Amino acid sequence: MSQFYPLKVKKVEKLTPESVSVVLEIPAELKEKFAFKPGQFVMVEKDLNGEKLRRYYSIYSVPEEGDIKLGIKLKGKDGFADYAMHRLKPGETLEVSIPMDDVKIDLAPGNKKKYLAVTIGSGITPFYSIIREKINKEPESRLVLVYGNKTPELAMFLKELRELEKKYPEQFKMYEVYSESEAGDFPGRIDEEILKQILSAEGTGFDAVYLIGPDDLKKKAAKLLTETGIPKEKLHYRVYT
Ligand SMILES: Cc1cc2nc3c(=O)[nH]c(=O)nc-3n(C[C@H](O)[C@H](O)[C@H](O)COP(=O)(O)OP(=O)(O)OC[C@H]3O[C@@H](n4cnc5c(N)ncnc54)[C@H](O)[C@@H]3O)c2cc1C
Repeated sequence: MSQFYPLKVKKVEKLTPESVSVVLEIPAELKEKFAFKPGQFVMVEKDLNGEKLRRYYSIYSVPEEGDIKLGIKLKGKDGFADYAMHRLKPGETLEVSIPMDDVKIDLAPGNKKKYLAVTIGSGITPFYSIIREKINKEPESRLVLVYGNKTPELAMFLKELRELEKKYPEQFKMYEVYSESEAGDFPGRIDEEILKQILSAEGTGFDAVYLIGPDDLKKKAAKLLTETGIPKEKLHYRVYT
């Protein structure tokens, strides 16, 4: 059974009109237990509306920052995300599990690899951590991100990601896909056609591909990527929930 620890909320800040950043303070005696790697998540438990809710959140901070930062996107009324967006205040205590593996990536300074990450909405959180860690720890590798949202205004960490892309063009490339806006690189939802165009620009020799999204995106993308010759064992999925 997972063990939970009481952690104090240090900061709650709006990221977009539909998402919020929750910064958790890690006391000195728990620092070792809560040491984390980019790509990991924690479970958060909260009694809400007479029910014990348990939700999973990826860590978007990098280890050097010290705190655990969660990026939480509103999904519907009355859930934990609704609570975090509208009622959670600094000083409150949340029950949080130690970090656990989700998106696994082994970064090493000498590596010269090529990664592809495809995600939508709040699926960006593990990658926002991984991208920054990769730039610092594995500078010769390139990460290509395909990031889908309804509009740029609703895209979490968009400004920061655009800045990283501008500053490190060889290391990080982002393709923005919007289903309800003409802005970005492609209009619509991420589909096979969009991925085909990206693969023709970026090539197909990826060392690892990460997909976080709905089941249909996972299936279509996986089919296309294996057809282009990327071996199945290089594809990593998490069905978006
Ligand atoms: C490994 C892992 C990591 C995750 N990381 C993150 C993260 O970094 N950030 C993040 O925001 N979420 C993340 N999630 C999802 C998160 O755990 C919750 O499922 C999410 O916050 C919804 O919980 P809730 O209590 O707000 O909503 P719920 O109580 O589950 O649902 C409330 C209402 O919203 C509706 N609803 C729920 N999900 C959706 C949806 N996807 N689309 C439309 N309506 C929906 C429900 O039907 C219901 O009406 C992650 C999940 C996993 C498995």
